[in-house]
Amino acid sequence: LSNNRFFIESPQNFCNTGRAFMPIFPASDENLRHAAKRLQNGELVAFPTETVYGLGAHARDEAAVAQIFAAKGRPATNPLIVHVHNLEAAREIGNWNERAQRLAQRFWPGALTLVLPKKPAIPSNVSAGLETVGVRVPAHPVALKLLEIAQIPVAAPSANRSNHISPTRAHHVENSLGEEIWILDGGPCEIGIESTVLDLSGETPTILRLGGVSQTEIEAEIGPVRVQTHDEAAQNSGAKSPGMSRKHYAPRAKVHVFNTPIDAIFHAMALGWGEKVGVLSLIETEIAGVQDAVSVVMPNDAPSYAARFYDALHQLDDAGCALILIEDVPLSREWNAVRDRILRAAA
Ligand code: AMP
Ligand code: MG
Repeated sequence: LSNNRFFIESPQNFCNTGRAFMPIFPASDENLRHAAKRLQNGELVAFPTETVYGLGAHARDEAAVAQIFAAKGRPATNPLIVHVHNLEAAREIGNWNERAQRLAQRFWPGALTLVLPKKPAIPSNVSAGLETVGVRVPAHPVALKLLEIAQIPVAAPSANRSNHISPTRAHHVENSLGEEIWILDGGPCEIGIESTVLDLSGETPTILRLGGVSQTEIEAEIGPVRVQTHDEAAQNSGAKSPGMSRKHYAPRAKVHVFNTPIDAIFHAMALGWGEKVGVLSLIETEIAGVQDAVSVVMPNDAPSYAARFYDALHQLDDAGCALILIEDVPLSREWNAVRDRILRAAA
């Protein structure tokens, strides 16, 4: 059956793009039920969330979880986030505390992952051997419906090959992981960058990864939090937050962050003649002297920029750019998560 699965089980993904079958399924009730069945059976499903697309597996099924690492080429030292449909279900994953309660009530469903002491029912490959586990309730109707129908916790990292750009559209998943992956299509992701990861397992709440929910918003709820630095993250890699490895979110092309057009031109000129250059900027920026440039003008508010960022990188990568020049973004708190992803893309 599995070789013919698109044929037999999926009348709803007929498409006329010239290929007979695609692994991308619209999120109809029937396909959602089928996806839930797959998860319960220990098979993988890629699904949309409000941050990025996730590659999900039954979080209590060690063998199913192992398939995620295999499909992504993900190092076993990089933990996964467990997705559940409500706060009650989250309490089955990690040991709760008062901060977790406040934050969950305020931000869930939403782009905040809480890291808490792990309960024994969650196999240790989910948390990469750590004593803690990341958990969140995603704010995407398709993800929520899927989790509700399946009635199981779903471990899901981003649905891309390890070290590549995260997917914010169904076809990004297919491009990265291939036709073997079963993908529920929920349209483009609204937030477009990964969740904020907040460690609540120690004395001081610590942001391990900036993301969809800002430091300011979190602090309004529970008071001061620390942000882990890249250096700490590097020291901790393999321990607290392995996903902080800088090279985690990079396109194929070389990436340079520029502050002035002169700086951009300088880098473009250093490239071989005739190479294609991509430019991501806040205002139209002409890179004089470059024959073959593809320019994307980005929105100039942080949330809209974030929503567009990975998609733009995918676009420039797919266009065959050898170099992507990204204009630096404003140095203010609201841009921190976006800047973090820009620096990682350039690492
Ligand atoms: P991804 O969904 O691909 O962004 O990967 C999940 C990320 O969540 C990891 O790379 C880590 O940064 C973070 N994470 C998940 N679980 C934990 C944990 N127990 N401790 C620290 N970080 C975690
Ligand atoms: Mg990822």
